[in-house]
Amino acid sequence: QPQPATSDCDVLIVGAGPAGLMLANWLSRFSQDVKTRILDKRGTKIFNGQADGLQCRTLEIFDSFDFGHRAWRESNHMLEICLWNPDKDGVIRRSDRIPDTIPGISRFQQVVLHQGRIERFFLDSIAKNSDIKVERATLPISFSFDESVSKNTEAYPITVTIQHLTEEEATPKQSATSQNGAGISDGLFRSNMTPDDTQELINLAQKSKHAGQTETIRAKFMVGCDGAHSWVRNQVGFTLKGESTDYIWGVLDIVPITDFPDIRMRCAIHSASQGSVMVIPRENKLVRLYIQLTTVQNAAGGAKFDRSTITPEVILASAQRIMAPYKLSYKYCDWWTAYQIGQRVGDSFSLHERVFLAGDAVHTHSPKAGQGMNVSMQDTYNLGWKLAHAVRGTHDLSVLKTYQSERRKIAQDLIDFDHKFSRLFSGRPAKDVLDEEGISMDEFKDAFVKGNMFASGIAVDYGSSMIVAKSGSSVEQGDGTDVSIQSGTTAAISKPELTKNISLGKRMPSVKVLNQADARPWHFQELLPSNGCWRLVLFAGDLTDKASLERLNRLGAHLGSKDSFINRYTPPGRPVDSLIEVLTVHSGKRAEFELLSLAEPFHPYTEQDGYDYWKVFVDDVSYHEGENKAYDFYGIDKERGCGVIIRPDQYVSWIGHVDDYENMDKFFSAFMKTPKATIRATNGLTNDTSTL
Ligand code: FAD
Repeated sequence: QPQPATSDCDVLIVGAGPAGLMLANWLSRFSQDVKTRILDKRGTKIFNGQADGLQCRTLEIFDSFDFGHRAWRESNHMLEICLWNPDKDGVIRRSDRIPDTIPGISRFQQVVLHQGRIERFFLDSIAKNSDIKVERATLPISFSFDESVSKNTEAYPITVTIQHLTEEEATPKQSATSQNGAGISDGLFRSNMTPDDTQELINLAQKSKHAGQTETIRAKFMVGCDGAHSWVRNQVGFTLKGESTDYIWGVLDIVPITDFPDIRMRCAIHSASQGSVMVIPRENKLVRLYIQLTTVQNAAGGAKFDRSTITPEVILASAQRIMAPYKLSYKYCDWWTAYQIGQRVGDSFSLHERVFLAGDAVHTHSPKAGQGMNVSMQDTYNLGWKLAHAVRGTHDLSVLKTYQSERRKIAQDLIDFDHKFSRLFSGRPAKDVLDEEGISMDEFKDAFVKGNMFASGIAVDYGSSMIVAKSGSSVEQGDGTDVSIQSGTTAAISKPELTKNISLGKRMPSVKVLNQADARPWHFQELLPSNGCWRLVLFAGDLTDKASLERLNRLGAHLGSKDSFINRYTPPGRPVDSLIEVLTVHSGKRAEFELLSLAEPFHPYTEQDGYDYWKVFVDDVSYHEGENKAYDFYGIDKERGCGVIIRPDQYVSWIGHVDDYENMDKFFSAFMKTPKATIRATNGLTNDTSTL
């Protein structure tokens, strides 16, 4: 079916790697209201190699999109890190073992699974929820932006012409340099040691007699998820700032034949004088080796390294030297590549909150700490729901400013972390305390242990803004503007002291609670699926106590009133829980409390389905899983309780008294908008946890 020559869409995504697919996946949950298109210059997705590490926070996010279990089952679980260092005779020995994921920080631990499978999970999830399809072998060739209409939510300030490529043009060329490497996939076409081919592809497509048709797209928003060489970034004139180092690393994905005892552990091996290897055990008997090959002169210092001299055999030979006296060889190599370490971060992440950059397009660094894919996906996990609500007209456009204020800081932290980690990993071990040029192995272990918290993704702590009511209530943006919680003359006040272990700006931690109606235990995070809803969570105290019950029901009267913030902002005709869902967790005895003694906003009633039995939970002993002590876990007083507002991406926005309706209202009123009449009455969002 030929496309019309000109068309409109709400969000145009350029690039279908992990960042682009995460965004398309978010927007697939809003497909009724948001028209999304996603393009990729390549003819296919990735099938092997490339990124592989999944942090525990990323698994929590996958779980919120209902495919966490697929990654968890298929992946290799990483539980221990072994450190190998030279002994006094210069022979490598195991010097330490540390847990790979800090125990207790998440219900998941770090796992590894190759990028192609992760892209598959996204594609399946997008197809299940929408008719969005990745338009492959397609790339944008021109861009224009009309700044004068950028403040108008209904306007299309972006115009992009796209061109379709032939299959041959869209297929990256593979290196044929390996002696016995014919047929082995390599990732050199995506390596930072290879020049970008986008312009070449555009020229080819325009000259080719097979060239597909062009099409002009007018878009309200555009997101460049097009990797380190980002075409979108070049169009908007933004740059990456930072340096390239002179360390070259090779990567081999092999089924190893070896007598090295820790080959199924994640290992950091520093040899006395031959460099370093990082061992990453993988799914399907595979092991990934990151191997330091050599140092080369950087751009300032002269010629770049000739990458045609790097082959799987050269990488293996380096690994054999570093891991001697242990033997290492392989019969099967799945994938290999080489890259030069460089750390760069974008100067800006958005043009007038209409064009955004995400993932490798705004931060590049070394892959060894397994961060690139995770942070890239988390960029668009942060952006997706904000864009969707802006398009629907349920949130003010200014919410989009928080994308840059929240994610640029993470990118900068990532670059700093990677800088330190790479230096420690690439350096030669110190011979003794007087060897100042060498790396202290104690310092290396310390960096690993401390880095584990950062690397888990759990440490992310968003600053104060209109959607995170921390005290101080304002945050300096990268562009110098001030995003403030202030709305008119009012400001929502948080009381973070009401809980010890739930932190404003951080993701909501998880512990099991029981459903009041059917006694089933649920992990709290399972109650927060990524469907675009905000949540007001009421830790209501002991509801078998008359005064506590009356206090909650007084709040219920406010929430249920015609002009409550829930009823003001929920689009007409949509379910009452489709924008702000109210969840209650009480601390009384389950068997002594009756669900229907609560006011209706806590278990909404519809003619069609009767009462909703999946909104009220209790911190009590379960029949088969013991006691979880949720109030103790969260550090909440069992009588006083508290209220918590959680964003659609599970980050905590506000903490206050359980009946503080006034501040809850102030919080939402700062950025929510009375919905557009154009939002259709039927609902694509569901809070039905039965499909989880
Ligand atoms: P990408 O994955 O680069 O995706 C960009 C997409 O945009 C691609 O599909 C591309 O075809 C498309 N595209 C590009 N230009 C255009 C255009 N003009 N028009 C249309 N489409 C376009 N990370 C880890 O976590 N662990 C690892 O072990 C690891 N190993 C790596 C090894 C190498 C050699 C490299 C280069 C990276 C590695 N990374 C690793 C990093 C990880 O792959 C990236 O951080 C991650 O893929 C970034 O996701 P992204 O979606 O931002 O960009």
